[in-house]
Amino acid sequence: MTVMPRPSILSVEPYVGGESKIPGVNRIVKLSSNEGAFGPPPGAIEAIRAMAPEAHRYPDGSATALREAIGARFGLDPARIVVGNGSDELLALLILAYGGEGTELVMSAHGFLMYDITGRWAGCRVIKVPERNLTADVDGLLAAVGPRTRLVFLANPNNPTGSILPQAEVERLRAGLREDILLVLDAAYAEYVTRPDYDAGAKLVDATGNTVMTRTFSKIFGMGGMRLGWAYAPAPVVDILGRVRGPFNVNAAAMAAGVAALAEPGWIEKSVAHNTAWRGKVSEALSAAGIRVWPSEGNFVLADFGTAEKARAADAALRARGLIVRAMGGYGLPQALRITIGTAEECTMVIEALSAFMHG
Ligand SMILES: *Cc1c(COP(=O)(O)O)cnc(C)c1O
Repeated sequence: MTVMPRPSILSVEPYVGGESKIPGVNRIVKLSSNEGAFGPPPGAIEAIRAMAPEAHRYPDGSATALREAIGARFGLDPARIVVGNGSDELLALLILAYGGEGTELVMSAHGFLMYDITGRWAGCRVIKVPERNLTADVDGLLAAVGPRTRLVFLANPNNPTGSILPQAEVERLRAGLREDILLVLDAAYAEYVTRPDYDAGAKLVDATGNTVMTRTFSKIFGMGGMRLGWAYAPAPVVDILGRVRGPFNVNAAAMAAGVAALAEPGWIEKSVAHNTAWRGKVSEALSAAGIRVWPSEGNFVLADFGTAEKARAADAALRARGLIVRAMGGYGLPQALRITIGTAEECTMVIEALSAFMHG
């Protein structure tokens, strides 16, 4: 006899984060985790430093200042915002609260891996729905829903494909789901989207009682190491999250940094302008070199080499120059590499390395 977890947990494969080291290589350029091209905003760095002498104090468990700052910045009611230790925590709390043994969670085939991992942890049966052109298929998602389905997850834009569903399609998805199914719109890359018809999720959260939007400080605000995310949800869901979250789930330095990041003048504008320009340049240059680049609305591109073998060789060629990108086998896309849009210099290094690889 020995200790055993619930059986469903044994089917979970641990999440493997983007790598950050190559043995024997000194200068590493890490483009494997979509961490934002510019690091944290200067004001956030200062706020983290300023918090250090107060580290003995418990944080504000109700996160009032941060929720008010988020509400003001994005035009949302602070009472309907819940903050988390990364949006991953909030996704997990939603799955544990609304899913679990005997329920089903529906997601897109190449959707964000944490839905699969956490869904299995909770005991849900996770159903992955085939995509069209590496884009979520609303008809397929709706057809996969059964009587036990309690949760549907959509990352919009999606990581790792970069694809996006138009607002009308997201609304059609919601309209086709039963009322007892929670639709989670994961908008980790919302700030990068430049399409005028895009809504990150707040419209549907307001219009329905069963839709949640999640957001993060890990991508455009460059604060992945601080672990800070938030959800905008209907009042009953806010109530549930308030029951299941830890009382001090977000630390004081992260909250102070979040408030400062939101106040950083021009940060989002500067980051979006850089991302749009360099995502375009990288996409064009790689296409010109003969690599298929999928259209992306995020701060990364999915470079498709046609075969897993060629993708592995390209990965090796990048590594030889100290460039770490993300292999996509875990996402069922072994023929592709996901490349984060870094600084101008880093993007130029990627273009040079892959152009040389394709011509070599
Ligand atoms: C990065 C990412 C997250 C996780 O963000 P954290 O706030 O750092 O936990 C969630 N969803 C998607 C689609 C992501 O790419």
